[in-house]
Amino acid sequence: MISVREALDLVLRDLPALGSEQVPLPCALGRVLAAPTLATRDIPPFRNSAMDGYAVRAVDTATAAAHAAVRLRILEVVGAGALPRQTVGAGTATKIMTGSPMPAGADAVVRIEDTAEHDGSVDVRVAVAAGAHVRHPGEDMRAGETVLTPGRALRPADIGLLASLGAAVVSVRRKPVVAILSTGDELVELGQPLAPGQIVNSNAYTLAAAVEESGGTPRVLGIVRDTVEETRRAFLDAFNSDVVLSTGGVSMGTFDLVRATLAELGVAERFWKVAQKPGKPLAFGRRDAVPVFGLPGNPVSSLVCFYLYVRPALRAMQGLERLHLPTVDATLDETVHTASGLTELVRCILEGEPTAYHVRATGSQSSGVLRSLSLGQGLIIAPPEVTTLERGSRVRVMLLNNDAGAAPPV
Ligand code: AMP
Ligand code: MG
Repeated sequence: MISVREALDLVLRDLPALGSEQVPLPCALGRVLAAPTLATRDIPPFRNSAMDGYAVRAVDTATAAAHAAVRLRILEVVGAGALPRQTVGAGTATKIMTGSPMPAGADAVVRIEDTAEHDGSVDVRVAVAAGAHVRHPGEDMRAGETVLTPGRALRPADIGLLASLGAAVVSVRRKPVVAILSTGDELVELGQPLAPGQIVNSNAYTLAAAVEESGGTPRVLGIVRDTVEETRRAFLDAFNSDVVLSTGGVSMGTFDLVRATLAELGVAERFWKVAQKPGKPLAFGRRDAVPVFGLPGNPVSSLVCFYLYVRPALRAMQGLERLHLPTVDATLDETVHTASGLTELVRCILEGEPTAYHVRATGSQSSGVLRSLSLGQGLIIAPPEVTTLERGSRVRVMLLNNDAGAAPPV
């Protein structure tokens, strides 16, 4: 049996990269930038004031102090969006607002708080240095400069930056279309009555949500009965996708038909079974470029395999650099026994501040108990050589949601 590390290497090796598409800027949040963004103009495009105040010649304020104001004659008032008409000369000032273009002749701004205005003049009570409160063209971005590099998921600040450069559309990587099929004679679609022995096809919903969270587009193909014909037909349809996920039918049972069918349909299996718990029966192969994951049927197993292998693959195909979920160290609040020879992923509840996380298991670790993943925020990663994680020891935890440890900033 191969290790988690070896399995990951086999999944991530020579994955196909997705092409790009143009999307309107308001639709680009979270999408992965496909090409470098060059500043097409200086931002800000013109010299402007960083404060509400008065544009002056700094030399005129040299002797100004709290009890020795310098009086300057006000030439005009320039609001943001307006253009100054007069040149500031000796003994004069232009009243100016944040973002207003600086008038010619002025080289500094005195904040309104440091002045008093009366009868068309302003008393300046502080000396300002040349350049004070003046924003220069290109201070944010210079024309021609690379401001965003490909491979980043666009964040709100990036969207604003693109907008300020006038980019109405942006070139992003295509979202991977991920086929999801659910094998099992016991499965029933959501909303249908359950006969004895039947369960809802919950995996399809779990995985569709996980695909979306990973930047993909789920293509839910529904329930596949445990017959060779139906399994074959469903996979042939699924192959018209960027990635294929199936659940169930990859263990040792009489009705576990997935691997044999995939082999028959030309999927080159790269591995089956990983030394891990949960998720040991995971199968992975490629049909030409298309990665095909035969995920185990147990709800926890399939989702843990998704986090460990599918999510990084989807991110790699989108061109993202950071593939894996973040990990943190935490102090274990109870002793946990784990399987020998397997990397065990223990669903856990994480508490406390980032400098002092504490962690405990969520209770039953049965791979059928999806509640264990719902209750917890992470997975303790217990290495194969370990069988006991002692209370009080430090353990590594993979975070499944990014608000673990969230706290008010002050
Ligand atoms: P299998 O790998 O097909 O033997 O399935 C293992 C376990 O997972 C069985 O208890 C199945 O009933 C359950 N299971 C399989 N597929 C699904 C599904 N789509 N949704 C929820 N449970 C499932
Ligand atoms: Mg089954």
